[in-house]
Amino acid sequence: MHELAVLADAVAGCTRCRLAEGRTQVVFGSGHPNAELMFVGEAPGFHEDKQGVPFVGQAGKLLEKLLACIGLGREDVYIANVLKCRPPGNRDPQPDEIQACESHLWKQIELIQPRVVATLGNFATKLLSGRPLGITRVHGQEQETSLGGNRVLLYPLYHPAAALYTPRMLEVLETDFRRIPELLGRPVVVPEPVPMPVFDAPSQAAVQLGLF
Ligand code: URA
Repeated sequence: MHELAVLADAVAGCTRCRLAEGRTQVVFGSGHPNAELMFVGEAPGFHEDKQGVPFVGQAGKLLEKLLACIGLGREDVYIANVLKCRPPGNRDPQPDEIQACESHLWKQIELIQPRVVATLGNFATKLLSGRPLGITRVHGQEQETSLGGNRVLLYPLYHPAAALYTPRMLEVLETDFRRIPELLGRPVVVPEPVPMPVFDAPSQAAVQLGLF
């Protein structure tokens, strides 16, 4: 069995947070197990909780349309969420829920080894960038970084659910989406190791501090 399927089996019984009590099932993720392009959304909603598959509601239909515009289908990419279980009434994920769940996502990224990770909306963007900057500030700005032990391009996008009701946001999402093929074609840049500084004589400051 593929390691990702083994992980999915293990996560199916997760009881790390309160969301386990109200869920129909864990929504682990779906798509190509070695996809070059991975999407990370927020959390399952009503339909995802019922079907066990991420992005199958209205936001998912829009995501499929956007993918089709760049010649891709769901089966070509991997789709996951920050939270694997539906928050009651689709409320925002809470910090302790994200903390309890995040290692599942890190492990997914480690196994899939995507080249581009597109974060959908604020929660995924803040978690994976490790920065507090909101999606309005950072959408469309790719960043080379390490995730799950691999060099990836992190690419923040507006959440399709938000774009469904705001035409201006949809335009921006479409524009940002159209850059994905170019990002997928970029070579991986492995940073040069930073050489350790070599000190052959104590600095004046160190002498003044009485270190020598
Ligand atoms: N919104 C999300 O963030 N994820 C889903 O799976 C569905 C809607």
